Amino acid sequence: MVIKVAVAGPRGRMGREAIDTILKNPEFRLVSVLDSKKDLVYLGESISVFTSLKELIEQTEPDVLVDLTVPSSVFDHAMTALEYGVRPVIGTTGFTELQLDEISNKVKEKKVGCIIAPNFSIGAVLMMKFAQTAAKYLPNVEIIEMHHDQKVDAPSGTAMKTVQMIQAVRENVEQGHPEEEEIVEGARGANIEGLHIHSVRLPGLVAHQQVLLGGEGQLLTLRHDSFNRSSFMSGIVLSINEIMKRNTLIYGLEDIIL
Ligand code: NAP
Repeated sequence: MVIKVAVAGPRGRMGREAIDTILKNPEFRLVSVLDSKKDLVYLGESISVFTSLKELIEQTEPDVLVDLTVPSSVFDHAMTALEYGVRPVIGTTGFTELQLDEISNKVKEKKVGCIIAPNFSIGAVLMMKFAQTAAKYLPNVEIIEMHHDQKVDAPSGTAMKTVQMIQAVRENVEQGHPEEEEIVEGARGANIEGLHIHSVRLPGLVAHQQVLLGGEGQLLTLRHDSFNRSSFMSGIVLSINEIMKRNTLIYGLEDIIL
């Protein structure tokens, strides 16, 4: 069966790469795209461009919506897709806990599968998994995530997901000096229940993360680099295929590849 796919964010860096990948894959058919502005992309006669997701779904009936847009739009896209029985595969980052809860409830209500993948790269998923294992033994952890300077949300979705995975196994330790003081606000980064994340934004970078785990006389560094956006494409292909078989919410690719 050919899977009918729609892509939201077709002019974006990720969207363009995802469209190339979908067009090359014989198991998928790109039926439409959702853009914020009409007529800025042209992908051939058979692929319509919409600015309304409802109209896109009603007129082109995709099985899957791949969302690679912005944090301010993605929640509405996910809820609308689920309402209409279209399976969202979401790479856009920046969800709040409350939004994730609402999506989870909608998935249960509609029994329509949804994948939210803060990182589609297999190497990054492994880095998160290894960090989780290591944090059981080395619970003093700091994360440095580094991205290109056009990224709008911080910390990155990958860093937030890594923290969530680490917090599930890490004993509660107080890191740093109990009386430490920031001379300049933000010097110690974001503090999530004692675990610190430092976000770097620079031109030239794509997506990079280091997890530093410190112990007495030792430091374990886990590092992953995405040098270009092709590193995310096999995860998108896997997610489109997988979500057709599922009717639950999958948050993070580790649940389907490890
Ligand atoms: P980008 O180049 O800024 O592209 C975002 C695109 O979305 C833009 O073309 C933007 O159009 C469009 N857009 C905004 N609102 C929209 C709406 N309501 N409907 C349709 N399109 C809309 O960003 P990117 O680098 O491609 O990244 C996209 C998202 O993927 C970000 O959240 C990023 O963090 C995430 N990301 C995820 C992974 C992963 O592995 N999960 C990897 C890399 C990036 P305008 O410019 O006209 O607003």
